[in-house]
Amino acid sequence: MRYIDEFRDAALARGLARAIAAAVRPDRRYHIMEFCGGHTHAIARYGLPDLLPPAIRLIHGPGCPVCVLPVGRIDDAIAIARQPGVILCTYGDLMRVPASGRTSLLKAKAAGADIRMVLSAGDALAIAERNPEREVVFLAIGFETTTPPTAVVIRAARDKGLTNFSVFCNHVLTPAAIRAILDSPEEAGAGVPLDGFIGPAHVSVVIGSRPYEIFAEEHRKPVVVAGFEPLDVMQAVLMLVGQINDGRALAENQFTRAVTRDGNRKAQALVAEVFELRPSFEWRGLGAIPDSALRIREAFAAFDAERRFAVPGRSVADHKGCACGEILRGRKAPADCALFGTGCTPENPVGSCMVSSEGACAAHYTYGRFR
Ligand code: SF4
Repeated sequence: MRYIDEFRDAALARGLARAIAAAVRPDRRYHIMEFCGGHTHAIARYGLPDLLPPAIRLIHGPGCPVCVLPVGRIDDAIAIARQPGVILCTYGDLMRVPASGRTSLLKAKAAGADIRMVLSAGDALAIAERNPEREVVFLAIGFETTTPPTAVVIRAARDKGLTNFSVFCNHVLTPAAIRAILDSPEEAGAGVPLDGFIGPAHVSVVIGSRPYEIFAEEHRKPVVVAGFEPLDVMQAVLMLVGQINDGRALAENQFTRAVTRDGNRKAQALVAEVFELRPSFEWRGLGAIPDSALRIREAFAAFDAERRFAVPGRSVADHKGCACGEILRGRKAPADCALFGTGCTPENPVGSCMVSSEGACAAHYTYGRFR
């Protein structure tokens, strides 16, 4: 398949591996964070660490939308779903994330709440149109990639005059999370300073590569936006090693077949019309981060589930044995968790990182442990 097969070519991968091995300096190590869960998945699936020299350490970041949603927000969603007449719609992964009290959206559904799995925000809107006597709530999560479709359905609901549709908005912002990692005292990376970032692929299609330039300028950390195929990641590593060796710190774009510097301006305008910054939002592992998430603007308040339904709004700690928080900050690897593969598996997850296919624990479990 065009744009897929050529980015999975084994001979080219071996060539890139040789180029990286030749580029690394013998006197240093390279700590590179892949922000996005899509990259974590690709790195695990294609065994990329086996192709890299020991001097390069890839550190998983917080870019998995299911993983970073804190327990308290899932409790809120269950509280909404249990209210009379409500149909709660959301993506499949989220249904299995443990909430507090050993429950989850899936268990709440089994106990009688009307919770339905959808494949898109549009599916939720269609359910609202088919069920005018019910209140349909879309549990929206995701980074900048999935925010425009949510904006589309909110505008569509307004244009269609729907009064039984609303969105429980949990959309979060990538640059704010990168800044939080860089501003943290330990600067993630298992206590070692990070040398650079592999920037998100799909997110960057929407926001462009420009938002990462500030991290290169202010924090002196190179960022290379990369696609999700194995050769994309290998090439991004080579570009980062080159920058690190030269003492350069630039925002570069490896994923030129899809990402521009300015991104998708139409999608950005749509998001800006419907959403505004939240002053603060809690992330699993990263805590409350200012201006790191979106909420629905006053003009669309009628479609904001947080204004229409009472929610507990509590901050709830993770399971005490779960290291998701530290994994999402890059402080630990999945194999460092005592529950990994024993008390916690994809069939019986204890934390969110084992649920989503983009979660670091699920990737390690599915494709084998790697350094
Ligand atoms: Fe949490 Fe399970 Fe990962 Fe441990 S293995 S950090 S319990 S999700």
